[in-house]
Amino acid sequence: MSIHENQTINCPKCANEQNAEIWSSINVSLNPEGRNKLFDGEINRFKCEDCGYEALIPAPLLYHDPDRKFAVHYFPAESIKKINFLEQFDLYGKLNVGDKLDFDIPEYMLDIHIVFNMDELITFVIFREMLLEFHQQNQDSPAPSMN
Ligand SMILES: [Zn+2]
Repeated sequence: MSIHENQTINCPKCANEQNAEIWSSINVSLNPEGRNKLFDGEINRFKCEDCGYEALIPAPLLYHDPDRKFAVHYFPAESIKKINFLEQFDLYGKLNVGDKLDFDIPEYMLDIHIVFNMDELITFVIFREMLLEFHQQNQDSPAPSMN
């Protein structure tokens, strides 16, 4: 499932109050347009209707692709200093998703790639899509035989 909700945000520059759509999760199989918006830089992008100030809204974002079986999670870099953020990970940097989700967790969701930059999130999505394509193409050619 994809999760997005409207929140009232005050412009950091002119304090103008307006509604902004905050995405916390994109399931690209159910929401292909979520991927398009992400690639266009429209996800969690604040643009003030009054003064035109633009900035990324520092909200965590989970991107998952059930068909290609990968998940990547963006966190704002400032999260690193927060205890309730660090508590979500084990010593090896692996996100504990068990208590966060209340539905059966597919296997790819147990190994979520973590990034702290939205550009890196997009680059990682492209990497995994290209990788899958590469491996699928290689499956078509027969493996070299040893005899
Ligand atoms: Zn403003």
